[in-house]
Amino acid sequence: MPHTHEKKPHIALTGDRPTGKLHLGHFVGSIQNRLKLQNDADQSFYMIADVQALTDNADNPEKVRNNVLEVAMDNIAAGLDPTKTTMFIQSLVPEIAELTVYFMNLVTLARLKRNPTVKSEMKDKGYEEDVPAGFLLYPISQAADILIFKAETVPVGEDQLPVIEQANEIVDKFNRFYGTGENADGEAEGVFQKIIPLVGATARLVGLDGSAKMSKSLDNGIYLSDNEATIRAKVKQMYTDPDHIHKEQPGKVEGNVVFTYLDIFDEDKARLEELKAQYRAGGLGDVEIKERLATILVDSFEEFRMRRSALEADKEAVMRILEAGTERAREVARATMQEVRKAMHIDY
Ligand code: ATP
Ligand code: MG
Repeated sequence: MPHTHEKKPHIALTGDRPTGKLHLGHFVGSIQNRLKLQNDADQSFYMIADVQALTDNADNPEKVRNNVLEVAMDNIAAGLDPTKTTMFIQSLVPEIAELTVYFMNLVTLARLKRNPTVKSEMKDKGYEEDVPAGFLLYPISQAADILIFKAETVPVGEDQLPVIEQANEIVDKFNRFYGTGENADGEAEGVFQKIIPLVGATARLVGLDGSAKMSKSLDNGIYLSDNEATIRAKVKQMYTDPDHIHKEQPGKVEGNVVFTYLDIFDEDKARLEELKAQYRAGGLGDVEIKERLATILVDSFEEFRMRRSALEADKEAVMRILEAGTERAREVARATMQEVRKAMHIDY
């Protein structure tokens, strides 16, 4: 019989922490790629990471619970299609927690403490030695989130790259300990495959205040669901060039958040270059340039806001989507856990 080589399906997975509504950083960092992948990949999964959100919100489960539907509605309104993407809730797939426990043996405490993402998030949250163990360990849990679905493509913002790198170290260790040997390149083979992060068009969108990252936790963002008045008010507060006080003065474009955003969201690049030149030379006020940005943002997300309002009117339907997705996700997770137990020789 001829040997038939079965092509592995291309699987994508992404997720959000239900810690707040989604902002422009999510949109350019990850959502745009999610939308592309739900058509390009053979299967895509979208996870609402409530277990991960609890690692730094243990005292506030209501916040996490309330935001589960919010992030789901944000994604659906942005174009995620539940018939193409399996949308599920992390805590309802306990096999992920089970896999996390086995992965914990493959990572050292020193390595976790060195993870640059964890380090900077710990700093933002004011954790030092009193960091919750679950928070320090979240990269292990995130590896399990991805690998239990055998996802190879993971759309993320740049801040998540060190977490993916750590997940790939787990893949390597797992396959070395419980795998089937090395391939021609000397890589260990087994149940899991290396993960490829897919960074968005804007790897890291700065916050309104000019800080390194727009983030739900830092509350320095424009949310996709913000209404026109809120968007306009927030753009007015944006960090520009602090030395550009009068319209006639020459201003700085670099490091000026309004121009950083215009570079991303203004489609008329020729006009934008003219405006930059005018701002640099003097004669273009912050008020005018902010009005241009605000109008662009208001228009870009108008359709989103309409779709979101429609979803808000029937939250039960959104919950049913998550329930159905969770059921499907759980089947896949169960099957992978059987393979894992077999590979680890704990399939009694
Ligand atoms: P939290 O502060 O609770 O961690 P967050 O704003 O960082 O919230 P997450 O839910 O952690 O949001 O991130 C979801 C996805 O969006 C991740 O892939 C992350 O890399 C990406 N992302 C978040 N913020 C940005 C940003 N400012 N620019 C680009 N991508 C981002
Ligand atoms: Mg985050």
